[in-house]
Amino acid sequence: MTKVVVVGSGPIGSAFALTLHNLDSTADITMFEVGPAATHPLGRHVRTLDSTEELEEAQLLCQGPKRNVKEDPRKMHTGVVLARPGTFLVEDGKANSEMPATAMSANVGGMGAHWTAACPRLGDGEIPTFIDRAEFESDFDEAWRILKVTQSAFATFPLGDQLRERLGAKYNVGRSADRNVQPMPLAVQVKDNRTWWTGTDVIIESILPSERFHLIPDTLVTEVIHDGTRATGVRIKNQNTGAESAVDADVVFVAGDSIRTPQLLFKSGIRPKALGHYLNDHGQVLGLAELPEDLTATTEKPNRIGALAPHSGISWIPYDRETFPVHAQIMQMDASPIPLHDMKEPRPGAFVGVGLFVPKDVQAADRVEFSDTETDFFGMPKPSLFYKLTAEDDRRFAEAKELLTGVMETIGTPLGNGAIVMPPGSSLHYMGTVRMGASDDGTSVCDQNSRIWNFENLYVGGNGVIPTETAANPTPTSIAFAIKAARSIARTVSKGN
Ligand SMILES: Cc1cc2nc3c(=O)[nH]c(=O)nc-3n(C[C@H](O)[C@H](O)[C@H](O)COP(=O)(O)OP(=O)(O)OC[C@H]3O[C@@H](n4cnc5c(N)ncnc54)[C@H](O)[C@@H]3O)c2cc1C
Repeated sequence: MTKVVVVGSGPIGSAFALTLHNLDSTADITMFEVGPAATHPLGRHVRTLDSTEELEEAQLLCQGPKRNVKEDPRKMHTGVVLARPGTFLVEDGKANSEMPATAMSANVGGMGAHWTAACPRLGDGEIPTFIDRAEFESDFDEAWRILKVTQSAFATFPLGDQLRERLGAKYNVGRSADRNVQPMPLAVQVKDNRTWWTGTDVIIESILPSERFHLIPDTLVTEVIHDGTRATGVRIKNQNTGAESAVDADVVFVAGDSIRTPQLLFKSGIRPKALGHYLNDHGQVLGLAELPEDLTATTEKPNRIGALAPHSGISWIPYDRETFPVHAQIMQMDASPIPLHDMKEPRPGAFVGVGLFVPKDVQAADRVEFSDTETDFFGMPKPSLFYKLTAEDDRRFAEAKELLTGVMETIGTPLGNGAIVMPPGSSLHYMGTVRMGASDDGTSVCDQNSRIWNFENLYVGGNGVIPTETAANPTPTSIAFAIKAARSIARTVSKGN
């Protein structure tokens, strides 16, 4: 029996557990999650719950130190940075934070209980060059399969096709067919005229009943126990009773998000030079467009959460290094991160939010640092964020604003005061802090199988592993890397090689 500990129950830990469980019949997997079981079944996406009351109740449980604190979203209009419902800010209340919108979730399912479920494939320039491309694409396909990704969830609504036709006429020029304007790949299932957003319940459904998989909520992993080259277990703390104990492990996979994965390593005395550095949050630029009458949906807004909105769904203009160096999502309004415009009752389907992700000019100096003396809400080393935009970032933002205007004018009339540049941290996609590298040259934390350099059996997962400048939403890519890690473990560690 190979005892495997997974730290964190988000989509990455869950996909890793599923893959290893199915590849290696000797693997006995225990997954610890510091947050509570906020939804039933475990890890269900909050937007798949039956009522708005249930959704709000579940969101409030996931907010760690802000558990049960409901913020008024109108505060955002006064310049206050608020966490999205279901998340909490890493540097809450810190004056002049360099990454004020950086947030996390603490619940079974992690941010995967709250995400928009957009699952784009990376383009040329976004994938690390030292990774075998065919292997990556195959693992990415598997990630899509695990997440139940589809591009046809909103296929029955002609408005989406009309939008994409107009956008395609302008942006498809010079692209290969797979990088044309298209419906956003979404991790959703459509059943009973209802959209079931993929949470970790969908990922772990088949292994939850297994005797070789154990999911333990309300339990913080406080330390990885190790001898410098080999992890031998973890220390845990029950969040309800305060009881502490140690658990043996043959393999440890840390998937606690891009802030808390390096935090746990730091706390455990595992501090490679690159740990926490190369923090990479792609910039986010938003706009709102009003569609012309001939592009406006006429059906009414559904009155139940999870019901299909008769709007355009989410369309995607993929990143193209040469012609369109950002990622664009053209969204139905209930997926937009902020109230973009002061509208009471918009004509159904008449307004779309356009969001661009702008790749960051990655710098070693952008980092999360941890304190040896101060602690966070959970009693772990307190994180501080250091994040600066370079002159190259300024150039990219200026270019992105022009691209945004172009997209909005292609489909309608831009509204408001032009592009809104969101504060750093807003993307909720933090990368680089435990980055993967081709060699142990001090610029990476793990190898291409996500194994920490110089350790035999200690692995990391999550967006922090991604080393490249990317525009696309990262979750399926991080799952692909976690699948690669699981395959490598099944091949080697579990077989005693
Ligand atoms: C509103 C919203 C919209 C989003 N939309 C998209 C999208 O459209 N596409 C996309 O790709 N991504 C999106 N994301 C981001 C996506 O949710 C994350 O990329 C994904 O959840 C990362 O998975 P993870 O498992 O690495 O981390 P998480 O989902 O953050 O899970 C990590 C878990 O580990 C737990 N943990 C941490 N440390 C410890 C410890 N020491 N002991 C025990 N437990 C611990 C945490 O409590 C947490 O539950 C969105 C996120 C949000 C909030």
